[in-house]
Amino acid sequence: MRAEIIATGTELLLGQIVNTNARFLAEKLAEKGIDVYWQTVVGDNPKRLEEAFRLALSRADLVLTSGGLGPTMDDLTKETLAKVLGLPLEPHPGWQEYLEQLFSRPGFKKMPANNRKQAMLPRGAKLITNENGTAPGVWVEKDGKIVVLMPGPPHELEPMFIKHLMPMLPETGSLIMSRVLKVTGLGESLMEELVADLVRTQTNPTIAPLAKQNETHLRISAKAASREECLRLLAATEEKLLARLGENVFARDDETMEEMVAKLLVAKKLTLAAAESCTGGLLAHTLTNVPGSSAYFLLGLVTYSNAAKERLLYIPASLLAKEGAVSEAVAKAMAQNARKLAESTLGVGITGIAGPDGGTPEKPVGLVYIALATPEDMQVKRFNFFGKRENIKERAVHAALNMIRLYLIRQTG
Ligand code: ATP
Ligand code: MG
Repeated sequence: MRAEIIATGTELLLGQIVNTNARFLAEKLAEKGIDVYWQTVVGDNPKRLEEAFRLALSRADLVLTSGGLGPTMDDLTKETLAKVLGLPLEPHPGWQEYLEQLFSRPGFKKMPANNRKQAMLPRGAKLITNENGTAPGVWVEKDGKIVVLMPGPPHELEPMFIKHLMPMLPETGSLIMSRVLKVTGLGESLMEELVADLVRTQTNPTIAPLAKQNETHLRISAKAASREECLRLLAATEEKLLARLGENVFARDDETMEEMVAKLLVAKKLTLAAAESCTGGLLAHTLTNVPGSSAYFLLGLVTYSNAAKERLLYIPASLLAKEGAVSEAVAKAMAQNARKLAESTLGVGITGIAGPDGGTPEKPVGLVYIALATPEDMQVKRFNFFGKRENIKERAVHAALNMIRLYLIRQTG
């Protein structure tokens, strides 16, 4: 089965929007084992769209389009396909009624006549429900070819494809499934060394590393005849990688570092407070991005000035004068006192130089101390991050979260 994706829209050709629909569809089709041989982008022009349809139908068995199903003049995908296939457009009574009901709800104006065209389908086509918009999708089969039309907005196309269209696509006898392991705490080259032989020799599943700012992703992709077989292959390779990388693997797929920390804190019923300087509250922001964070995050203080460190965190002026605000001793005191103030299980202190100014030979830009006060002990780490101000803040927050995570997973009981 050979597929072609046609994305329509002049704004795509002008570079005003990115063709995320093609990326999404290509990925999902690969999962189904369907080979995408061509991707086409065409403007809102009936003649060129017609050419694109004719070419696609001459070389592919499955043609999928995105866009041009709206109610306006420049929305002409359905009309053009009907012309190419030589099928008349006929009203779909069910969808017409659905639209009329939608527009008759309180607060809605009368349905514009234009919307009526959204309830028209090429003769013999199947209507694909759209739960997030007024334009239904269209499934047409003719002369052994399948053509699928979908609306352009990704929040309409993506759920429509997953919920309604994926199950309708023909089985190819094989599918591809992927899993991502997220690794941190190892430099890219060290990680490479640890898994290089697996990456090189594995053919099914394959393993592909991708370096990100604070983490490296290892994408495992398995091809097999069934979901169960794919899952079995993925699990076996995941196990091999975990044996090499251990606790450096912090999350899978869409999970984030902060979500993993949140899960651990909730499971262990522990709480956390943070005193931040150079990260300016980014740790508190990141922690509170996770729904339900009030269960464990008790206090976040941004003590940017020495005066604030003294008055709010009771850090002795003498300590600040002797060691400097960016020092191991001050990071420890920040963590300890945040913990005491909030009466939390854990306290974090972060102090450093985010730059671009303020560095010295002894304390260069990117120097960050992170301390973690726990009921048992006090940990402190010195980091030398590089990058711009924002990167340094992000790296510091990632490192702080990782320290919390490691403490929690190493804790027995
Ligand atoms: P509408 O009813 O909104 O007019 P439509 O089915 O006619 O929907 P288009 O008019 O082609 O679709 O696109 C609507 C919007 O959807 C675009 O402005 C853009 O924001 C988004 N969009 C369209 N095509 C793509 C694409 N290939 N990738 C990502 N976004 C897209
Ligand atoms: Mg449109």
